[in-house]
Formats: sequence, structure tokens, C-alpha cells
Amino acid sequence: MLVSSRKRLLIVGHGMAATRLVRDLEEKSPGQFAITIVGDEKLGGYNRVLLSSLLAGESDEAALAMQDRSWYRQHDIQLIAGDAVCSIELDTQSATTESGRKLNWDYLVLATGSRAARLPIPGTDLDGVMTLRTLQEAKQLIARSRDAGNPESDKNAVVVGGGLLGLEAACALQARGMQVTVVHNESWPMNRQLDGEAGELLRRTLQQRGIGFNPEANCVRFEADATGETVSALLLADGRRLPCTTAVMALGIIPEVSLARQLDLVVERAIVVDKWLQTSDERVFALGECCQIESEMFGLVAPIYQQADILSAVLLYKATTGTERISPDVDNHASVLPHYQRQPLPTRLKVSGVDVFSAGMLASPDNSAPLRSMAMRDGRTGHYRRLWWRGSQLVGAVMFGDIGDSSHYLRMIEDGCKADSNPATLLAPSSRAAS
Ligand SMILES: Cc1cc2nc3c(=O)[nH]c(=O)nc-3n(C[C@H](O)[C@H](O)[C@H](O)COP(=O)(O)OP(=O)(O)OC[C@H]3O[C@@H](n4cnc5c(N)ncnc54)[C@H](O)[C@@H]3O)c2cc1C
Repeated sequence: MLVSSRKRLLIVGHGMAATRLVRDLEEKSPGQFAITIVGDEKLGGYNRVLLSSLLAGESDEAALAMQDRSWYRQHDIQLIAGDAVCSIELDTQSATTESGRKLNWDYLVLATGSRAARLPIPGTDLDGVMTLRTLQEAKQLIARSRDAGNPESDKNAVVVGGGLLGLEAACALQARGMQVTVVHNESWPMNRQLDGEAGELLRRTLQQRGIGFNPEANCVRFEADATGETVSALLLADGRRLPCTTAVMALGIIPEVSLARQLDLVVERAIVVDKWLQTSDERVFALGECCQIESEMFGLVAPIYQQADILSAVLLYKATTGTERISPDVDNHASVLPHYQRQPLPTRLKVSGVDVFSAGMLASPDNSAPLRSMAMRDGRTGHYRRLWWRGSQLVGAVMFGDIGDSSHYLRMIEDGCKADSNPATLLAPSSRAAS
């Protein structure tokens, strides 16, 4: 009997991080590992970022695929879809799925992502109260918005959360013909990424599109219709009752760490990994939204793709050299292996016709050296931009309307280069041509 000498790599979770990891591994050293990926969603490895566009009717399901099924077959990768890993044993290096499959591994990667946060109020279990995290949920929301025969009042949607995801969901549901109201617990939408002035411009644009916006609102409970099963309204703390037959909670994400806790790995807000994606057990790794590096948590794909690139290099290095733990104390490791480096992350709202950009710092993390800022606004076009400096270094940018210079500002922030020119010159549209 032939016994394969390939190391067995088990990846739990088939989301964007896992898909990128296997692609990187196969590009760097095809066939090095006997890979199994287990994902609890039926369609594994799809582009979750496009769910807002799918909901808005701007892309279709076929566009979500990140990798053909045939690619996995060609690379001899075992895919298990629609089944969850429910327990893992470190002693026997094995895992069991809900359907009873037993899987053995030499290296284990946790790529379990996040779950959508839910409001801790009564009524979230009513039919029609949803989150937008999975393809299945996006399809359910599309189906709910399609109730063409119903009267207008039956097409009211409430979106709780005026961050990026909430606004994308609100605009998408509105594009599908629903009457949408956003409920937000802060003063302006996207308050984490925008200053008050840009937030106010965004709020006005949403309202001009017919989307209601309720700032500084607190939710009390979802109420049921006469059947007692389906949502009919959201009650706010100030007594207002917002009628709805669909409610989307877009409140952020909670890293999925239950398996890591079961394994007694070090977990804080997410699974703690070092800059080489190693957990507290040298055979187990984590990447994507389920992990944290120092205090940094993840909710965008750019840093997750950086992690996949690093982890593929680390796994290949460990498998070929027999190294147990990559360590900062070993000179060789630091020089031959890439490691995770924090980057300023740009934010763009994926809503057609609403151009918003934000990157870097808008406030000083400590109050020791407050940032300086300067804004430019064009009352005629409604365009606005504000830049932030620490000393002479550009550290943050917010743009609303004309975002043509966003890549230029992002590069300056990323490179940490000094903005020597006059701030007013840098603020002027297309300053890159002049500087
Ligand atoms: C609507 C929407 C729009 C977004 N837009 C953007 C954007 O514009 N830009 C951007 O950068 N990011 C965006 N994001 C965020 C981005 O999609 C995530 O950062 C990325 O998908 C995280 O990848 P991941 O692999 O860590 O997690 P996920 O993609 O969530 O994958 C984890 C997978 O593991 C599965 N899983 C969990 N536990 C188990 C288990 N025990 N067994 C088996 N499977 C399990 C989960 O069900 C899931 O399928 C958006 C997200 C959403 C929902």
C-alpha cells in the first residue's frame, strides 16, 4: 500500500481567507500538502464583498465564484461543503464534522471568519428580522423585496446600523423598490470613517434618494404582526414605532472562535496569532476575521489577503524544513519569511452614485500630539474633502463627491511621506498633477 508523504492540511471554514490561502499555496508549491477544506455554507469560497451588489441587483450569483470547482479537482483538494467541523482534538490531531466525518491533520488552519452581531433586544427571532452576512441571507432579502403584489406598506424595511454595510444594504433594498429607513445610534452615518461634515453630506444624499435616517436612536424591541410570527415594527426608545416587514441588523461582526476556545488556544476578542499567523499551538494557525494580531482585528479583505500570502509561505517553510515554531529569536526566520505588517486601510462605499472615501487617522490616538486638519468644500457641486496632518506628514483623508485624488492621498499616507507643499495646494483637486 502506498502511503502519501504529503503533510495533511485541514482548513476549517471556506470563506475568502481560506480560498486565497489555498490559491497561494498551490501557486507557490503545487501539491505540497494533502488539503481538505470544510465549509458550513453550501457554496464555499465565494466573494462575500459582492453580496451588497448582488442585493442591489448589480451583480449576479455567478459573479460571486472565486475559484471553479474544477480547479479544486485539478489540484486534488478535497472540498466538504455544507458541513461544519464541530469538534477538534489536539492529542489525536483529528476533527469531526456535524455529519460524522472524521478528518486527520498534521497542520490545522482556522479560517472561521465572523458571525453578524445581533441586537440584544426582544423580537430578533421574528420572521423578517435578518442580518446580511451569507449568500443565503442575501437571497432571502431579495425574495422579501420581491413581494410585488403587496401594498406599499408591506415593503417597508428598517436597517439598524448606519455603517458601511448598513448603508450598502439600505441602498440595495431601496434599489429593489422598498421604502427604507436607517436607524443609527450615532450622530451621522459612517461616523467611524467620516468627520461630521462629510457625514452630514452623506446623510443629505441618502435622504434625497428617499432613504430615511434616524440618528442617535436606540432600539427597544421588534414587534410582531397579528400572526405573532413576523416582524411588523421596530420600537425606538423615544417612543417612535417604525413599521417594517423586513429589518436588517448591520451592527458589526463577532469573530467565530468557538473551536479555538474548545482547543484552549489563547483567545481574546479573537484568536490570538503572531505576525506569522501561529496560534499558541505550533500546529494550529488562524487567519482572516477570526484572528487578531496584537490588538488589530480584521473586517476587510486587503489585510486578510496579506495574511494568506504570509501563511502560505510559513506552512511551506515548516513542512519542508521540519521547523516547529517560527520565532523572532531565530534570525533566519525573520529574513526568509514575510510577516504581517499593519497598513492604513482605505474605505469606499459600494453604492453607485455616492462617492465617499476615507483613509488613515482622523484623530490622534493619544491626545499628546493633536492632528491638524484643513478642508475644501465646493458649495456648487457639493464636493468636500478634508486632510489631516501630524507635523508635516499627511495621516488621514476624507472625500465626498469627487474622489479622484483618493489613490494619491492613500499612497502618501501609506508611504508616510512628508507633505511639504502648501496644505491648500494639496487639497486642491488633482493636486497630484501640480505636486
Ligand atoms: C455584505 C458584505 C459586504 C462587504 N464588503 C466589503 C468590502 O467592500 N471590502 C472589504 O474589504 N470587505 C468587505 N466585506 C468583508 C469581507 O467580506 C470579509 O472581511 C471577508 O469575507 C472575511 O473573510 P474570512 O474568510 O475571514 O471569513 P468568511 O468569509 O466569513 O468565511 C468564514 C467561513 O467559515 C465558515 N465557518 C465558520 N465556522 C465553521 C465551522 N466550524 N465549520 C465549517 N465552516 C465554518 C463560515 O460559515 C464562513 O463560510 C463585506 C462583507 C459583507 C458581509
